[in-house]
Amino acid sequence: MKPSPFAYAKPADLAEALRLKADHGDDGTFIAGGQSLVATLNMRLSSPDILIDIGGVTELSGIEVSDGSVRIGALTRHRDLEDSPDIKTHAPLIAEAIAQVAHPAIRNRGTMGGSIAFADPAAELPACILALDGAIEIAGPDGRRKVAAGNFFKGLYDTDLGTGEMITAVEFAADSDDWRTGFDELARRHGDYAMAGLAARLRMDGDSIAEARLVYFAVGDKPMLATGAGGELAGKPLSAETIEAAAASLDSDLEPFDDLHSSAAMKLHLARELTRRVLTKIAGGAQ
Ligand SMILES: Cc1cc2nc3c(=O)[nH]c(=O)nc-3n(C[C@H](O)[C@H](O)[C@H](O)COP(=O)(O)OP(=O)(O)OC[C@H]3O[C@@H](n4cnc5c(N)ncnc54)[C@H](O)[C@@H]3O)c2cc1C
Repeated sequence: MKPSPFAYAKPADLAEALRLKADHGDDGTFIAGGQSLVATLNMRLSSPDILIDIGGVTELSGIEVSDGSVRIGALTRHRDLEDSPDIKTHAPLIAEAIAQVAHPAIRNRGTMGGSIAFADPAAELPACILALDGAIEIAGPDGRRKVAAGNFFKGLYDTDLGTGEMITAVEFAADSDDWRTGFDELARRHGDYAMAGLAARLRMDGDSIAEARLVYFAVGDKPMLATGAGGELAGKPLSAETIEAAAASLDSDLEPFDDLHSSAAMKLHLARELTRRVLTKIAGGAQ
């Protein structure tokens, strides 16, 4: 199918982008990498009057590390994350996850802000930002605000973004030496959206786990922080027994539903298996 006709504007800076959005309201749609939006336009799931192309708003690009925190501009491409030594050093979870996002051609165009705004429940980056306990920086008609990732993802393709608002960056604390991270997903083919996935971070206190953030994706309507499984791990060593207890408690943490790829029961099974794989790998010191 072809999209409905639309006008096109390419603002030179953030102020102009927000002004255009304010002028057109819900009839205007931002386009960043276009890797999700163009498909929805072509299928006529979305028919905006005007596309506001933020690709020229250079102030939205780039990765900065300062004072122990990492800031990734909304327009930073997946490819830039993949190539960044700062991401490898300070956010190894993202470094590990990004290679699983689609294929190189899509990673050359897709952006951090687009992935977070689109909020596909099977997407890797929203799960990583939640596991990193990050914040989403938003600009809009009322100025700038920050929302914790835990409050940003509301449901299926639904976020806290209001009318006229744009994501400008994501921020999170750089990993210190006491954090261990692991990531894995199960997909029919490498680069496909996951049938189930896990982004995991453990803060160690000697041999004990001080804090565990296990975030599952493609097993619910948004990235899911498994608080029960995290509780099973907290204060204990990372052993075969604690890993099995965490996997078992997913029955109450997750409520997957059937989708095109697998049944709810299969997704729960995959999530348990990912828990074993990722935590066993962390226990082995592979990450
Ligand atoms: C074949 C294929 C396979 C894919 N596989 C995966 C996969 O395995 N995992 C995965 O995570 N993704 C996958 N994707 C999606 C890809 O990662 C997209 O690039 C990403 O989801 C959206 O980024 P984008 O910059 O292209 O956003 P766009 O397509 O430009 O925009 C997506 C939505 O976000 C909005 N938006 C964009 N930027 C902003 C902003 N700064 N502020 C507010 N709203 C904004 C747009 O208005 C639009 O509604 C796949 C895509 C394709 C085509």
